[in-house]
Amino acid sequence: MTAPIRFTNSYAALPERFFAPQAPTPVAAPQLIAVNDALAGNLGIDPAFLRSPEGVAMLAGNHVPEGAAPIAQAYAGHQFGGWVPQLGDGRAVLLGEVTTPEGRFDLQLKGSGPTPFSRRGDGRAWVGPVIREYVVSEAMYALGLPTTRALGAAFTGETILRDMKQRPGAVLARVARSHVRVGTFQYFAARGDVEGLRTLTDHVIARLYPECESPLDLLKAVTAAQATLIAGWMSLGFIHGVMNTDNMAISGETIDYGPCAFSDIYHPEMVFSSIDQYGRYAYGAQPQIATWNLAQFATCLIPLMGEQEKAIEDATLTINAFGPLYQSQWLKRFGQKIGIADAGMEELDLIQGLLTAMAQGQADFTRVFAAMRRGEDAGAEFMDPALWQAWAPDWRARLARETDPQAVMAEANPLRIPRNHRVEEAINAAEAGDLAPFERLMQALAEPYAEAPGFAAYEKAPDLGERVMRTFCG
Ligand code: AMP
Ligand code: MG
Ligand code: MG
Repeated sequence: MTAPIRFTNSYAALPERFFAPQAPTPVAAPQLIAVNDALAGNLGIDPAFLRSPEGVAMLAGNHVPEGAAPIAQAYAGHQFGGWVPQLGDGRAVLLGEVTTPEGRFDLQLKGSGPTPFSRRGDGRAWVGPVIREYVVSEAMYALGLPTTRALGAAFTGETILRDMKQRPGAVLARVARSHVRVGTFQYFAARGDVEGLRTLTDHVIARLYPECESPLDLLKAVTAAQATLIAGWMSLGFIHGVMNTDNMAISGETIDYGPCAFSDIYHPEMVFSSIDQYGRYAYGAQPQIATWNLAQFATCLIPLMGEQEKAIEDATLTINAFGPLYQSQWLKRFGQKIGIADAGMEELDLIQGLLTAMAQGQADFTRVFAAMRRGEDAGAEFMDPALWQAWAPDWRARLARETDPQAVMAEANPLRIPRNHRVEEAINAAEAGDLAPFERLMQALAEPYAEAPGFAAYEKAPDLGERVMRTFCG
């Protein structure tokens, strides 16, 4: 019999100080929450295996599959701007890297028990954050942005204490092109471990950016990947919520979905995270925070970049290039959202004018752009429709120069996003053992750009009483 998963484990082959060998901690009673058949297929894993007792045991951490080499990865990071020299996988283990024709993918269990990096944590997750990450990461994928993905999830059959309540425990099986973070580089840089930095850089280049020939090339590639990613988040009204350097992936994938949110009503200062008291990670702050995080990454690479003065100059130029890279991506994305195929600086005022009107008019971000693509009255989404009416004539005049603006908007403007009240509904039901709302939400979000009358309820903005203002960690 062949092994159900083909592993090649390059990270576990790195020097000892990069990780701690760590098997997942077995749980009382694994019970399946979900299997992602399409992703399993991409990874060459039979979904029927994941649903078998052995597969469910693997998802819950009770069975380590053949070929896996489970480890907890070491990293450091700036949390809300404060330096923490040692973080690491405190509640996750990397089972191994799954080999596919498209390359290797990390298979990680999150919520799989304590590790040497757990500090005071219990190493576990409750079903709430597991459902949130499952739904939002898969939605992000369907919306077309780089992201880690959810291969499956299982209940542990154990309860854990969160917010003064015993809640059902769960484990998420997460897939990423790599879990290396800015914080992974910081871990070695902070220790003056230049050899470690070199090894990590070589590993990351070989695995993620084979076209790069030097650490400076890598810095440029990661900067470009992040500019693209953050512009994508902005174009969907997404707020990550915890953009600490340990939550920024070198691969350019969205990673570590915690108290994140897709906004309903638009405002540049939107914050949902219950732990972000000062709005450090507010919607509109995300490009600046990305720059700050990339500057930390650059600082780590400087010792590998040759003569110091020149290295600092190259690094600075690269970080300064984030702004223009991001802006051109942002213009392109927001231009397409209003039907302009290839927007540039000339369109900045027009786009900004709409966003300002939306903020003033407390308009629902997704619904305004959905109405535009459908040729419906977007003014109905504004508290004061006059705000829309004041903006629309300039827009219509500009659209006269476009070939097929409706088609452009249909590709750029999703109809359905994982709205907070729907995610919360799925979480509350799952906590009570009912997975139906979660499953229906996953179906509603599978093709977010497609007209789907059966899922019209998922396009609705929350009623006043349904509105979720805060999202939580797990
Ligand atoms: P985050 O910002 O939520 O991705 O996590 C920050 C750090 O806290 C990481 O090192 C996590 O592994 C760790 N962590 C979060 N929750 C727990 C937990 N319940 N037990 C142990 N470590 C945790
Ligand atoms: Mg070790
Ligand atoms: Mg994290």
